Amino acid sequence: MQISTTRSESPVDDARLAEILADPGFGTHFTDHMLTVEWTPDRGWHDARITPYGPLSLDPATAVLHYAQETFEGLKAYRHDDGSIWTFRPEQNASRMMRSSRRLAFPELPVEDFVACVDALVEVDQRWVPDSSGEKSLYLRPFMYASEKFLGVRPSQHVTFMVIASPAGAYFKGGIKPVTLWLSEQFTRAGRGGMGAAKTGGNYAASLAAQREAIEQGCDQVVFLDDQEFRYIEELGGMNLFFVHADGRIVTPATGTILEGITRASIIELAGSLGHTVEERKFSIDEWREGVASGAITEIFACGTAAVVTPVGSLKSPHGDVAAPAGTDLTMRIREELVGLQFGHREDTHGWMHRVV
Ligand SMILES: *Cc1c(COP(=O)(O)O)cnc(C)c1O
Repeated sequence: MQISTTRSESPVDDARLAEILADPGFGTHFTDHMLTVEWTPDRGWHDARITPYGPLSLDPATAVLHYAQETFEGLKAYRHDDGSIWTFRPEQNASRMMRSSRRLAFPELPVEDFVACVDALVEVDQRWVPDSSGEKSLYLRPFMYASEKFLGVRPSQHVTFMVIASPAGAYFKGGIKPVTLWLSEQFTRAGRGGMGAAKTGGNYAASLAAQREAIEQGCDQVVFLDDQEFRYIEELGGMNLFFVHADGRIVTPATGTILEGITRASIIELAGSLGHTVEERKFSIDEWREGVASGAITEIFACGTAAVVTPVGSLKSPHGDVAAPAGTDLTMRIREELVGLQFGHREDTHGWMHRVV
């Protein structure tokens, strides 16, 4: 894929950039450039370009605004102590976007093109990759949307793929503290045969009312149950779950209607190499309640690119609360392993890191 570059004539100046990178927050500052690729049935993927970051001009009839044909990805670029810049398993994001694309009736962007696009933007905006202090990174957001001007329900005949980037600070300000959860017994995020496994904005739209309920209940995040029996644990709005048992077993809900997290898949491998058996299966809310009460469950954690790994505390529900599990040792161990790998402080024995600069 040929990518042309038009450099910004008004990049953020060094002093302002230093100020932003000192405390980037999350998702509020964007780099000097963005990447765009177009697709049409006759030309395929074409016109890949990096241009100065700026607003899009969309016709009000642009299909994505009406029918939500959209997919996205999320990954990070990490600066190592020698100044080099790396991403974590980007080909996994690429192949997941291909799976999401199939579900959303989009054309598929080949893995090597996806990775080349992400690399190209990171290279052009490399001064935006913060140093590793406080686990800072550059968050990368590839996304694809139905850009045809057309009101009608069929796959868009014009598709746009873009990558934008935003510096990200530590997810946990002032130390890691367990997230508290609200069990939604009214809303689900996905159903059998639906889009639960696709990374598409619609799943987040479906989670917002439940997330608002969680906040009203004084909790940080919502836990979703399956749509058939309202009994089996699915995931949080944007993080997968793991249940650590006193005998060393770890259980995580099986895939199907949940999003196949790359952090989740990596933890399954890591936990295996640390000598743990990981069971991917149905896990019910009763098993959660009874496991914590009896002490059979010693730790619960959630994972995703943004937070990496976060301990789960208490669970609140209309049918009774569940206390926080006793420990966080393995949770913190796994977190350290992953973060150590990503920032180049651990040997990359799995070959998961991809050098960009
Ligand atoms: C992206 C996402 C995750 C986490 O996936 P990672 O690849 O680990 O970042 C989990 N759940 C949902 C709904 C997501 O969209």
